[in-house]
Amino acid sequence: MSDDCIFCMICEGKLPSSKVYESDTLYAFLDLNPVHKGHTLVIPKKHCENILDCDPAIGQDVLTAMQRIGEALKKVTGCTGINVMQNNGRSAGQMVFHLHWHIIPRFDEDGLKLWPQGKYDSMDEMNATAEKLRKELA
Ligand code: AMP
Ligand code: ZN
Repeated sequence: MSDDCIFCMICEGKLPSSKVYESDTLYAFLDLNPVHKGHTLVIPKKHCENILDCDPAIGQDVLTAMQRIGEALKKVTGCTGINVMQNNGRSAGQMVFHLHWHIIPRFDEDGLKLWPQGKYDSMDEMNATAEKLRKELA
């Protein structure tokens, strides 16, 4: 629990939420400002800021929750696709600093566009970037 964290307060029942799912490690509830109705947030009950400081062992529970919530969203909303979004850090659009995954129902031709993509200046630049990352990860 982090004292001033609204998502800690939500999973401890100190702030209201529209709960959709709960397990030993996770809590899931509707986003107040949905991209589409049914937009769900999945959070670990144990506070951490984002994926860079969380316990990776939570990964299996998260995927299980996403599969179950995804299937439920398809049945309940009639969506034909799902985006899983997850922001890490202010520059990446994170506004609440308690790790959370957005599960967003999507519909054919719903008009939403994800981020624009660019290009490397050259294949050399692309390969050099991969090389630096491989060295860091070795
Ligand atoms: P992010 O930009 O990834 O940090 O997203 C934070 C999300 O939390 C936003 O989509 C907000 O609409 C949502 N949110 C903030 N406060 C609440 C709340 N009390 N209940 C439900 N959703 C919330
Ligand atoms: Zn928290």
